[in-house]
Amino acid sequence: MKITNIRLRKVSGVMETDGPLWEERLVMPIDIYPEYRTGGSHASGNQIDDGHYRVEACFVQIETDEGVIGIGGPIPDFHAYIIDQQLRPILEGKDPRATELLWDQMHRLMVHGRQGEVMMAISAVDCALWDLKGRWLDQPVFRLLGGPTRSEVPAYASMLGFDVEDPGRVAERSKEYQEKGYRAQKWFFRHGPASGPDGVRKNTELVRTLRETLGQDDDIMLDAWQSWDYQYAIRMAEEIAEFRPRWLEEVAMPDRIDTYAQVRAAVPFPLSGAEHEYTRWGFKRFIEADAVDILQPDIYWAGGLSEVLKIAAYASVYDLSVIPHGHSTNAGIHFSASQSPATTWIQEYLVLWNRIHQFFLADPVKPENGVIKVPDHVGMGMDLDPAKIDSEEELRF
Ligand SMILES: [Mg+2]
Repeated sequence: MKITNIRLRKVSGVMETDGPLWEERLVMPIDIYPEYRTGGSHASGNQIDDGHYRVEACFVQIETDEGVIGIGGPIPDFHAYIIDQQLRPILEGKDPRATELLWDQMHRLMVHGRQGEVMMAISAVDCALWDLKGRWLDQPVFRLLGGPTRSEVPAYASMLGFDVEDPGRVAERSKEYQEKGYRAQKWFFRHGPASGPDGVRKNTELVRTLRETLGQDDDIMLDAWQSWDYQYAIRMAEEIAEFRPRWLEEVAMPDRIDTYAQVRAAVPFPLSGAEHEYTRWGFKRFIEADAVDILQPDIYWAGGLSEVLKIAAYASVYDLSVIPHGHSTNAGIHFSASQSPATTWIQEYLVLWNRIHQFFLADPVKPENGVIKVPDHVGMGMDLDPAKIDSEEELRF
């Protein structure tokens, strides 16, 4: 079998919404500059009117001389550019089933792309190749990885995009998702060091509201999205420790590994991070510095399914949890279903983001009653639903 073409499918469609989809954004590292601190809800520009949201996405479709295809994505256009211009020549004419060979060749040829956007493009290609391999064998990908290790995986509701400033709405929302069956929720802080004492109060109020609403037994995860520093993390930890967070996520930008290690040593609850880290070598730095309790590689960013399996194997030596960042629920469930429940005991489900991210998928993976059932779809379940696509073009650069 040989790869004959790599098609970059840019699709567009309209999703119905009950009011504006995005209510609030999370704190960002650049918020230390006042001109960046306000406004700019995540992807809010795609809201057409209160009831409609335009979804645009690019999928990488790998085609072969035997008619078997594999689909990965969605990816932004600039990852499509990297695939079209730089990865295409490495891939065309090769056997798509040789995922180790192709990863190693992409990695060795793209010597400036060991981290960041190029590695994210490599990740999408790797995921498309795994989808293809599953389709070729007519099996779900988790079976190729030695799973399933269980019939369902607990999910946590990841509440990115919801209002976090109005405690009444936070209480209402968190209760709603508890009643949907989730026993764990992750919420995103809006404030960092530049917001001063008022921001500390608002961040703390968010966590207090969650604990008071959800009771003593549910897990509360909290995400600082790499926007804090050591002093601020310690200050916030003093405020929120009494509410027993299950973990505190990404206290600093990922190169500040010493900051992670110092915060981890000083706070009485687990620390997570590294969704913005890449490859086994990047994660080695986190592991060897004792920087976090829970590693969160993203399967579509850190090097693909092939690489996250290696990261997980390495982390298991240290008994660290590996709970991937939830950018792709489809890729996530095939990974989770192949791992021990001891290390991958829960999976992220971004409740708003997935409405966009999975919009074009014919078989989107969604939790029910707070758990994700291991799917029986072939490959990674990446068939697109033609009914959702208003227009399609093929990107060539
Ligand atoms: Mg995060």
